[in-house]
Amino acid sequence: MATVTQLRCRACGATYDAGPEYVCSECFGPLESVYDYEAAAGAISRASVAAGPTSIWRYGPLLPADCVADADLGPGYTPLIHARRIGARLGLRNLYVKNDTVNPTWSFKDRLVALAVAAARRFGFEVLACASTGNLAGAVAAHAARAGMRAVLFIPKGLELSKVMTAAVYNPTIVEVEGTYDDVNRLCTEIASEHPWAFANINMRPFYSEGCKTLAFEACEQLGWRFPDHLVVPVASGNLLVKSEKAFDEFRKVGLVQGRTPRIHGAQAEGCSPVAAAFRAGADVVKPVRPNTVAKSLAIGNPADGSFAVKTARRTGGVIESVTDAELVEGIRLLAETEGIFAETAGGTTIATLKKLAAAGTFGADETVVAFVTGAGLKTLDAVAASLAEPVWIQPSLRDFERGVLSADRRTPVGWVT
Ligand SMILES: *Cc1c(COP(=O)(O)O)cnc(C)c1O
Ligand SMILES: [Zn+2]
Repeated sequence: MATVTQLRCRACGATYDAGPEYVCSECFGPLESVYDYEAAAGAISRASVAAGPTSIWRYGPLLPADCVADADLGPGYTPLIHARRIGARLGLRNLYVKNDTVNPTWSFKDRLVALAVAAARRFGFEVLACASTGNLAGAVAAHAARAGMRAVLFIPKGLELSKVMTAAVYNPTIVEVEGTYDDVNRLCTEIASEHPWAFANINMRPFYSEGCKTLAFEACEQLGWRFPDHLVVPVASGNLLVKSEKAFDEFRKVGLVQGRTPRIHGAQAEGCSPVAAAFRAGADVVKPVRPNTVAKSLAIGNPADGSFAVKTARRTGGVIESVTDAELVEGIRLLAETEGIFAETAGGTTIATLKKLAAAGTFGADETVVAFVTGAGLKTLDAVAASLAEPVWIQPSLRDFERGVLSADRRTPVGWVT
């Protein structure tokens, strides 16, 4: 259907035959999948999408690889929730939450890895590897298991135990590296140039990264084939933010949706906010930082798409903001308490940033705002533990119930001891 045959440098435009390559040999810019949009326009319609699978594969003609049926876990096509309660608190009548906590391994990374697996199979690799801040590791481990490939996961020291365990259960090789994610990524880049392994987010990147488009595709479809006015997106490498704009452009190109590109806003945690800092400073170049935040899935100090993300936000009229760890924990609780969705720290960062932007008057009360909630809270329990109310302890008697439950203020957070 849409197996991509060419890659093009995003910086200088040089083209290459599709392969396990990701940097331009002319200028070191990132390589991207090239589509024949005329052919895609003929192959995709609102009706063809509606009749397609309930996963990312419904947008096949705009994806760089075809579904490998025996390796598929069916990621994507997650709910878009009209968030009325949280919207009422923020003064937004048309606030929507894209609930990507419900993917096969509980984060949006499944969408990307599905494409990495398809590309790895196509180029004949037997090992699927990655450099990960946590969620990617779980997604690679699960997809490799499903595809019958060996998985090797490289993670920085100090990740959440639940992220390591939810990857370990698929029986991959997990390599914990002494250093930050940026050190891990540098090491993996070296390994990828010496060993014939498919690294999902390195030499498979031109395919892998295209999976990011599918959240925006789905959001438009689920809004009744229209663009929202605003999008709020968490930012680590900046890939999801940059590819969201590409998704809107492509929907316009193939004639599925017309209209103005949404204003795309970025969300970072203050303890690792190099992209927000560059945005604020009016700079194009992102200065690397050393991460220190509970939002470990966003802890990339030297983001590959950082400067592209700054430019995308500026070009679309968006803002890149950061929030403190305390604010992002509040964001997790706000989303859980008002909408029943338990997000991880990256989702809390997005909701807290949404709140901050709303308070700053960024959104009109009737404008459509979509927030991407990209991962599930069970993987980052430690971040919220201290802020939760403990259960009320009683003896199994009516008297204890009446004294302990009916009269007590059960909302006082006394700290959960784990
Ligand atoms: C990886 C990740 C992100 C960040 O995505 P980038 O494309 O690297 O900016 C956001 N949220 C979650 C849950 C993630 O795992
Ligand atoms: Zn180039």
